[in-house]
Amino acid sequence: MMKSFRIGSLFGIPIKLDLTFLLVLPLFAYLIGIQIGDVAGILNATLNAGIDIGDVTGGLNPWILGFIAAVGLFVGVVLHELGHSLTAQRYGFPIDSITLWLFGGIAALSEMPENWKEEFNIAIAGPIVSVLVGVASYVLFLATPETFSGARFVLGYLAVLNVALAIFNMIPAFPMDGGRILRALLARGRPYAQATQQAASIGKMFAIAMGLFGLFAFNIILIGVAFFVYIAASSEAQQVTMKAAFQDVTVADIMTPAGDLHTVETDTSIADLIQRMFTERHTGYPVVEADRFDDGRLVGLVTLTDAREIKPVERDAYTVEDVMTTDLKTIEPNSDAMAAIERMRENDIGRLLVVEDGDLVGLISRSDVMTAFDIVQQSGALNPSKKPQTAD
Ligand SMILES: [Zn+2]
Repeated sequence: MMKSFRIGSLFGIPIKLDLTFLLVLPLFAYLIGIQIGDVAGILNATLNAGIDIGDVTGGLNPWILGFIAAVGLFVGVVLHELGHSLTAQRYGFPIDSITLWLFGGIAALSEMPENWKEEFNIAIAGPIVSVLVGVASYVLFLATPETFSGARFVLGYLAVLNVALAIFNMIPAFPMDGGRILRALLARGRPYAQATQQAASIGKMFAIAMGLFGLFAFNIILIGVAFFVYIAASSEAQQVTMKAAFQDVTVADIMTPAGDLHTVETDTSIADLIQRMFTERHTGYPVVEADRFDDGRLVGLVTLTDAREIKPVERDAYTVEDVMTTDLKTIEPNSDAMAAIERMRENDIGRLLVVEDGDLVGLISRSDVMTAFDIVQQSGALNPSKKPQTAD
């Protein structure tokens, strides 16, 4: 996510503003202000609003009312996201934050529900809140005397827009709310990963249609939303498929076990290390202490990048101990394969040492994970004889 800062919290959930939001708020205020006469005319015709058009278009009024309406819209978006968040909290899902950004709001759930009823209720809560906000705005609109043209404009506008927001979110374009509802309904009769892939395919089709429509209508916001939907549908589908594929798969199942692992000792010279990397075609080795080799006591990890720090003429004088990394990222053999993937991603590294009670029992690399994933995808199960044997 981009740079965002916290503006406060509601029900213990931090509310954050993304920097892109600060660009879009004045833009919305401007767009509402510039069209205020036309919009007031539409409200007069549809809601019988009785707005004095000369009043709302006079002086600075379009910009002041535009700004208030834009802020009101985003308050509506926060309430919509709170609808999702509070429902999710009721089911015990922790909510990291609600972030307002370019295309509205995002409620960040730490985990996603896999129970279709829970997902259905969490997804539909947002649009329901938007409809309620629209109805409340309409009631306030009715209660406001016709002499207050500005207030009637803002309230009438928010009534229409919040209902429109609910309808727009119900488009079955995963990962929008309608798409999540679709996935929940699909997941009733088939595995969750399959339901996600189907919902994501439909989402991508909608995204393409939306993007084309936006292109022809010169609607930049719609093009942006389409792009966002397309990317998000792809990445969430991939993540869910991976999670499903790796259900019940542990690190021990896919790691290269210590017995098959090539290790180097602390006193190996850099020249020898590079020679071994060249002949064995590995770019990273776990380092074990020279005098305790049998024990397999792990002291570091050395990669080609580390070795290259030493100039070629000096490579006989330096040992692995001088260049190795000792800040080791490790994982336990009985951890989930997904946990290993997440840890590699968080630390932006390609391999983790598998350690049990301080002893090196194996090494798991990004390519081990990808190979295992391909096998599961193609055959439906892990075949231990096909276990990858590389240390890269
Ligand atoms: Zn929503």
